[in-house]
Amino acid sequence: MISVNSISKVFGKHTVLKNLSTSIQKGEVVTIIGPSGSGKSTFLRCLNLLETPTSGDIFINGVKITDPKTNIAEIRRNIGMVFQQFNLFPHMNVLENVTYAPKTVRKISKEEAEKIGKDLLSKVGLSDKIESFPGQLSGGQKQRVAIARALAMEPNIMLFDEPTSALDPEMVKEVLEVMKDLAETGMTMVIVTHEMNFAKEVSDRVIFIDDGMIIEETDPKTFFTSPKTDRAKDFLSKIL
Ligand code: ADP
Ligand code: MG
Repeated sequence: MISVNSISKVFGKHTVLKNLSTSIQKGEVVTIIGPSGSGKSTFLRCLNLLETPTSGDIFINGVKITDPKTNIAEIRRNIGMVFQQFNLFPHMNVLENVTYAPKTVRKISKEEAEKIGKDLLSKVGLSDKIESFPGQLSGGQKQRVAIARALAMEPNIMLFDEPTSALDPEMVKEVLEVMKDLAETGMTMVIVTHEMNFAKEVSDRVIFIDDGMIIEETDPKTFFTSPKTDRAKDFLSKIL
């Protein structure tokens, strides 16, 4: 579903991604782990062209999205993204946040959008909050709205960039539960996270990035029990 061929990203004099290659199958849940500043967000953002790789190519469903002629809006419609800082529309209530893009981008009717929106909000456990505004919600509730909002576009791929890093500890679990449910539906997911238990239990594969390179890429059990490189061993020794 996603094929990354030797991408690099240069910001000024700084090469942030160095010849990364990988591929991700339909339905796979991949977690991206690595030290702060190692290029995880930049890599994730290249997958929906929030950043353009300086060199190399990315194919999604056979379409070369790094081709300058690609319709970026069309690509992004099929890829949902959830950020650390929620990015909800503060002046819209929860249901409006979730239905806005389906109505304006997918051009579906208000009634149909609200039906889909209410169904998604029920799945993330927020049926009783549809008329609340983001400012009235906890961080965990906001992040669940953000997930429902991304899903309302019926994406094929979901990208998550540290979705629980801005949350108080007691709210992390409710968001991870929603992500785990989503993984069980067969959604293709790429998740940058520091939640090692989630990576261990839910992901099919771990990609360990350090200094802009993929250092290890394996199933979570192998990665957490017998990392091969000193860099991965060192990283794990600091966080586990
Ligand atoms: P991570 O998500 O692993 O913490 P990032 O991908 O955010 O790492 O950043 C990797 C490196 O790229 C960092 O040194 C960061 O400062 C740099 N960087 C990220 N985005 C930009 C940008 N837009 N302009 C310049 N440097 C950037
Ligand atoms: Mg980051």
